[in-house]
Amino acid sequence: MAYQSINPYSNEVLKSYPDATDAELDQALAAGDKLYHQWRNDAVSTRAPYLKKVAELLRAEKQELATIMTKEMGKLISEADAEVDLCADIVDYYADNAAALLKPVPLKTDAGAAYYAKQATGVIFAVEPWNFPLYQIVRVFAPNFMVGNPMILKHASNTPGSADAFDKLVQKAGAPAGSFKNLFVNYDQVAKAIADPRVSGVALTGSERGGSSVAKEAGANLKKSTMELGGNDAFIVLNDADFDLVNQVSTQARLFNAGQVCTSSKRFIVLAEHYDEFLENLKVGFAAVKPGDPLAKDTTLAPLSSKRAKEKLVGQVKKAVDGGANVYFGNQPIDLPGQFFPPTILTDVTKDNPIYNEEMFGPVAVVYKVDNEDEAVALANDSSYGLGGSVFSKNPKHAAYIAERVETGMSFVNSSWLSLPELPFGGVKNSGYGRELSDLGLNAFVNEHLVIDA
Ligand code: NDP
Repeated sequence: MAYQSINPYSNEVLKSYPDATDAELDQALAAGDKLYHQWRNDAVSTRAPYLKKVAELLRAEKQELATIMTKEMGKLISEADAEVDLCADIVDYYADNAAALLKPVPLKTDAGAAYYAKQATGVIFAVEPWNFPLYQIVRVFAPNFMVGNPMILKHASNTPGSADAFDKLVQKAGAPAGSFKNLFVNYDQVAKAIADPRVSGVALTGSERGGSSVAKEAGANLKKSTMELGGNDAFIVLNDADFDLVNQVSTQARLFNAGQVCTSSKRFIVLAEHYDEFLENLKVGFAAVKPGDPLAKDTTLAPLSSKRAKEKLVGQVKKAVDGGANVYFGNQPIDLPGQFFPPTILTDVTKDNPIYNEEMFGPVAVVYKVDNEDEAVALANDSSYGLGGSVFSKNPKHAAYIAERVETGMSFVNSSWLSLPELPFGGVKNSGYGRELSDLGLNAFVNEHLVIDA
């Protein structure tokens, strides 16, 4: 059984889940397809009450859902609570706004009266990761539910409990059969589903490796796909930054979710004048965290999500140090049985260091010193990733100008990364393509159907 919940704090195996059969996959595809054809005749607004109920249940069952996430992938309980709240807000956002956002769009043309309708396309197959076990599901589920696209989920093999809990919650909300189905499928079954004519689109959030294999299957079968992949986001500190603000946000920008966020700030790029001061303050922030049981309210550093995640990060930091990086702070083992990695600050990472262009998915910050703003932009852009990034300056207009010069999908001026229902989320370069959330996420798998009355 490949799907297993293992508590990364205690290393206890919580539960194993049976693999899905091919017959179960076929049943889910058939139920989704049947519902898609029925939903094509229904007004968008008829689906909103189900989502309102889902949002209500998310809020009502927050404690239970948050505890499942914390136990199976280790995140701090306060962060898990906030994740459930955000999920409820996303679900509400689409329930409240989708009907207006999906209205036909009139077109100006000399050829006659024309518009395009925004129509459903069929079952969406979603492959999701473990770092935000519920948020990642909801980002695809809520908009597609309103569009009229049923969803089948293949969640990460280490967060089956979260996937199962969400499946049960959708059923409890009374959503129509076939609208959402979680399946514990293997990679071959994923490929089979993508090739099935009843599936019209594929959404994946995860690594470049996973994204590239799933996108290849989607491409081979001429299916539209969205890919939300990794990032190596820059946190640029200009000379005129508000340093109180920088100190306030920089630690959490890296350590939130134990650093396992695609759009965490990972490369801190600081102009020379304030470099030493920045490093010292980041060290103070990193030194202040308290590792421990993620269910305890006073713990501020969670374990990593799994043994595999820790082993990968240990290997990357070793490779960085062997390649000439300096450990400015951290990299000392934490004396607890869980999969902890200490908050660590690396400097002197040169272009020839093997981790220069690698994403480190954990509490490791790389800090760079640059002489001017052009160098900061050039360094930020010297990455195969292009997800997000931050720029700090007391002149927000200038910061926005610098931010726009960085090749990413999202920029945050005087703030660390954030995600809200109404803001699009996604990247460029090897960070993937397509957008989730906002009206852009709603349109990801829509048929813009031109109708012209000449
Ligand atoms: P993976 O890409 O391995 O896993 C993400 C999801 O994809 C999981 O459900 C996984 O299933 C599935 N998957 C992977 N390969 C295939 C395949 N060939 N066919 C079908 N499904 C597949 O990511 P990791 O778990 O390794 O996560 C770590 C990395 O992912 C990070 O370094 C980060 O770059 C990236 N990431 C990005 C996120 C984002 O929001 N953009 C979020 C989380 C991670 P299974 O678990 O069964 O292997």
